[in-house]
Amino acid sequence: MLAQPPAHAPAHAVVRPSLHIAGAWRDGATRMDVRNPYDGSLIAQVACATPADVDDAIASALVGQRAMAALTTGERAAILHRTADMLAADAARFAAMITAETGKIIRAATKEVSRAVNTLRLSAEEATRLSGETIAFDSFPGGETRHGFYVYEPVGVIAAITPFNDPLNLACHKLGPAFAAGNSVILKPADQAPLTAIMLAELLLAAGLPADALNLLTGRGGDFGTALVASPDIAMVSFTGGARTGETIARAAGIKRIAMELGANAAVIVAADADIGKAADACASGAFWAAGQNCIGVQRIFVHQSIYAAFRDRMVATTEAMVVGDPMDPATDIGPMIAVGEAERMAAWTDEAVALGARVCTGGRRDGAIFPPTIFEQAPPDARIVRQEAFGPIVSLFPYADLDDAIAAANAVDHAIHAAIFTASLRDAHHAARGLQAAGVMINDSTDYRLDAMPFGGARRGNMGREGVRFAVREMSHTKVVCFHEG
Ligand code: NAP
Repeated sequence: MLAQPPAHAPAHAVVRPSLHIAGAWRDGATRMDVRNPYDGSLIAQVACATPADVDDAIASALVGQRAMAALTTGERAAILHRTADMLAADAARFAAMITAETGKIIRAATKEVSRAVNTLRLSAEEATRLSGETIAFDSFPGGETRHGFYVYEPVGVIAAITPFNDPLNLACHKLGPAFAAGNSVILKPADQAPLTAIMLAELLLAAGLPADALNLLTGRGGDFGTALVASPDIAMVSFTGGARTGETIARAAGIKRIAMELGANAAVIVAADADIGKAADACASGAFWAAGQNCIGVQRIFVHQSIYAAFRDRMVATTEAMVVGDPMDPATDIGPMIAVGEAERMAAWTDEAVALGARVCTGGRRDGAIFPPTIFEQAPPDARIVRQEAFGPIVSLFPYADLDDAIAAANAVDHAIHAAIFTASLRDAHHAARGLQAAGVMINDSTDYRLDAMPFGGARRGNMGREGVRFAVREMSHTKVVCFHEG
């Protein structure tokens, strides 16, 4: 029998098995706890999948793939729209579960649910736009008596592996496009936060998704991930998570389609002519949203020396006004990190940076799983807070004199998704947009701006493919040419 939830926890998932395989929910031989990162309370126990469960899930997904491919694009769209409708109607329960299992503040969790509704609707719309084009065969000698076209076909069974930090919307960014394109999916959510994904699976199935089209495996990726991604029956691995895990998965997956959405160490430039107040407030929000556990969160800010002190003081004041504490309280701005160990990592990185000469402008002292929003200056380039992805609520400020030097410093990292510049100069905005080596450059916005319809991915080492619904649908499809010879 699965553990009962504490009285204040969202009563869900604990009362039932958590592996969805071959159209039925089943329990596992072993289970693991899912705990609230804020107070450590037990929310649920979920099954730990095994390689044998992977075999069963793949067999089911192969059946589900044929069922999905047989649906018309209109039928796929209708399922996704129905799911979006049900999610919108159930938003409060989903938001409460996101907050319970990740510690994300309730305002951010509520926003994530509304974004997920949008991601599902965009996916539904893309299903109906899944059309190819005619090909001008007569454009080249030898083609005069031929005509034809290309179409998009599903790739097959997709292994979708998601991280903890946006447990609903990032799952929707894989499931929505995959189903729109006619694929089946085996979903592996993060072990710290699998419950929202289970709830999402229930909605999709209730909305009419063929039962074999979605298999869901909870548990530890290290236990069964290799069996999943290495299988020749998996046509594509769509992974979002850390670079090290991505490397392990890519090696195990071998030659197959792989999409990798990895981490980043995002940089913002604040030029001398920027609106200091707007830039500082946007950077504070961009650095500390979701307690900094955001792949496009601001980590390094290069501020023109003429406004450096004013910008720093404003950003420190804005940050110190943030409310740190219970993520369920709507007044809270910063909740816990996903685990005490992550807050301890932030504390260790802070100690290292200070020992190397960095100054803490605000924050810096851990309290359990909470690491407060922390601003550094004078951080040396070899400190981990500068050179590695922090994925926590810390940010470093650097003064600069020359825009090209700031662009070069912004680019001096391995992993980038977004970069940004605050400036009133159109010329400098264009110059920075060309020079910043990132997959997206935000002008007068922090790096953490994202619309779910825009192409989204990484620009540097290890990143492969694009999400953003329309772009993910293409990644999850094969193009097939049909050519008629009249001669
Ligand atoms: P993670 O530790 O890399 O885990 C991501 C997923 O991979 C989890 O579901 C994990 O399962 C699974 N996994 C672990 N080992 C595996 C294996 N051998 N085979 C198959 N799957 C395996 O990442 P995280 O801590 O959850 O998330 C933080 C990272 O995600 C950060 O680097 C962040 O920047 C990145 N991220 C990127 C984006 C983007 O769109 N680019 C968005 C959000 C987050 P377990 O939980 O069971 O270990």
